[in-house]
Amino acid sequence: MLNALNAIILLKKSRINIFSQPTTIKPIPMQNTFLDNTAIEIHREIQVGNICHVVFDFDGTISLIRDGWQNVMVPMMIEYLQTETDTTETQEQLEAIVVEFVDRLTGKQTIYQMIQLSEEIEKRGGTPKDPLAYKDEYNRRLLPVVEERIAGLTAGTLSADPLRVPMSLEFLQSLREMGVSCYLASGTDVEFVKNEASLLGVTEYFDGGIFGALREYQKFSKAMIIQKIITDFNLSGSELLIVGDGYVEIENAKEVGALAVGVASVEGNIYNMNADKRERLIRAGADIIIPDFREGAQLINHLFNL
Ligand SMILES: [Mg+2]
Repeated sequence: MLNALNAIILLKKSRINIFSQPTTIKPIPMQNTFLDNTAIEIHREIQVGNICHVVFDFDGTISLIRDGWQNVMVPMMIEYLQTETDTTETQEQLEAIVVEFVDRLTGKQTIYQMIQLSEEIEKRGGTPKDPLAYKDEYNRRLLPVVEERIAGLTAGTLSADPLRVPMSLEFLQSLREMGVSCYLASGTDVEFVKNEASLLGVTEYFDGGIFGALREYQKFSKAMIIQKIITDFNLSGSELLIVGDGYVEIENAKEVGALAVGVASVEGNIYNMNADKRERLIRAGADIIIPDFREGAQLINHLFNL
């Protein structure tokens, strides 16, 4: 029954892939690049069976607590560009510019999106504030959305399950049972990440540590965390796996020869920003693409050569 259901889902996915892609986007891979009877896409021959450390991104990879954050960030930036400059650009023009750079910088620390906002204000003759001030304002505006979910989780009126990327908890449990070290590295501020990981019940699985953005932003990047793990454990590329839904962490993985699984998870933003998420993860060099962790068992069998 489950297999039949999977087959239908796969059929639906492949139909969507074949018929709904704009022509400018890379064609979908041939059927034979899917792992048998799954929606797991294999994009490159990799050396499997050696993984002992796994670094996860948080938002969009494990957590959906901040889902919809773009709906807060984009209007805020448009508002600043309109009020802090004398631009004659229309709302639509500004939105296109903001959506492009917010999307492009997703996965890095939030401050980089705010640095770009400052530059855009300056380009239009305005005098920008410190990017940290914009970041604080963004966090302030995002808070009600996040707080509502956090309050629900804390009070127990909201279940954590729908706020986790499907089956991500089970995937982490399997890795722990196998003795694999897991790490969390997020572009969101570290104190938020720690709290939200705890509310989602995933903290205990990150025995390697939970890392996130710092106010002194030069002291943290996903690349730095990855490099430190490689150095500390003297790892070769095939011993380290990076799992994320942002092209930043996938690029970071490939820069050091680590394995990369891209999570083409669905995000709820009104700007259609994840429309080409899968294609971008592939372009960034993802070895494997998964929609979420619902076929985590098959993915683990493949990655660990079981
Ligand atoms: Mg992410």
